Amino acid sequence: MELFDVAVIGGGPAGSVCAAFSAASGLRVVLIEREKFPREKVCGDCLNPECWPILRRLGVDQCVRASPHGALDWVEFISVGDRHVRIDLPRGEEAEIAVKRSAFDSVLLERARKLGAEIREASTLTSIEKSDSAWKLTTTETATAFRARVLVAADGRNSTVARLLGLLPRFAKERVALQTHIPLPRGFGNRVVLQLLPGGYSGQAPVNDSELNLCLVGKPKSIRPLQAWAAQYFNLPSTQSWRTITPLTRPSLPPARENLLFVGDAARVVEPFTGEGIFYALRSGELAAAAGKEMIRGNAAEAMRDYIRQHRAMYRGRLWINALARATVISPELGSFFFQLARLQPALLRFLTRKIVK
Ligand SMILES: Cc1cc2nc3c(=O)[nH]c(=O)nc-3n(C[C@H](O)[C@H](O)[C@H](O)COP(=O)(O)OP(=O)(O)OC[C@H]3O[C@@H](n4cnc5c(N)ncnc54)[C@H](O)[C@@H]3O)c2cc1C
Repeated sequence: MELFDVAVIGGGPAGSVCAAFSAASGLRVVLIEREKFPREKVCGDCLNPECWPILRRLGVDQCVRASPHGALDWVEFISVGDRHVRIDLPRGEEAEIAVKRSAFDSVLLERARKLGAEIREASTLTSIEKSDSAWKLTTTETATAFRARVLVAADGRNSTVARLLGLLPRFAKERVALQTHIPLPRGFGNRVVLQLLPGGYSGQAPVNDSELNLCLVGKPKSIRPLQAWAAQYFNLPSTQSWRTITPLTRPSLPPARENLLFVGDAARVVEPFTGEGIFYALRSGELAAAAGKEMIRGNAAEAMRDYIRQHRAMYRGRLWINALARATVISPELGSFFFQLARLQPALLRFLTRKIVK
């Protein structure tokens, strides 16, 4: 049976970066991805500036910059009562941009392939067995199983790896997200819009010269009214197709176990309002590649300890803002109170935004 050093399940940002760095360090890597790329994803498509150093280390920053994208010079918060607060974002080479996930994720997957990872697309993980020192994995693509010494779960918030191993935390489908791309409204500007609405919120960002990313987030009972609001506001045809995802958040998982690493959303899902998920995915993918290499060298306990510590440090000082954002978007009263406060004290909102978009 074929034996790999590392098997990565999922070819989103976390999985591709982990596979790329692992292959670059000389390991034999296989990446299993359910979809055939390029594919879109439910996402606001915004890249936090902290992604740039990782993209540079991976050698793809220029390639991402050369992909069609929207420049984001400011964020505009809009209240339920249609009051606006504008906060400027950092400018320059390493500013925040919005790029479609079909383009961004393909750049990363191709980088992993180029660095030597074996990429198996249109292949879904279906079973996992732990046998002596390796994992035995089966996918829909081939009847024959293969083995890997280290398993990396990069398969998103509804992680199949976690589910098959009985580790997926219980969660309520408290909210749902919808996403689509629509023609860019004339004069939209280089801005990302975060708009509070009755029952949820909407995120909007230009992803190139002609398209706008449009996201809606709300409780299951609010999602149809939100869709009706978007249809009217943006004059959408009744045939507009939407992608959907749930849950919006769920309890986190310990990111490391014996020869098993969780990266990106598979480990921890944050409220999308602050637009940081891709950064956490990239960084945890990079950290997991180093941890996997150490595990294969025989330093499993130390590698696990280090990865857990670094994974925790990545979120330090940021999670409270994310929790505040979640509370604000879930409670209309808190949302409107916070908005009033931000209008009176814009420095407060500027401070919070700068903590996230550095
Ligand atoms: C509404 C919304 C808006 C958001 N906006 C932003 C934003 O603007 N900026 C930002 O940084 N973050 C945003 N996020 C968060 C961001 O989308 C995620 O954090 C990010 O995609 C996580 O990357 P990942 O690689 O961990 O997982 P994913 O991107 O989910 O990738 C997982 C991959 O695993 C594959 N897979 C799943 N199961 C299997 C299986 N059994 N076998 C094989 N393959 C499998 C999937 O096909 C997928 O390609 C948003 C999220 C939501 C819900």
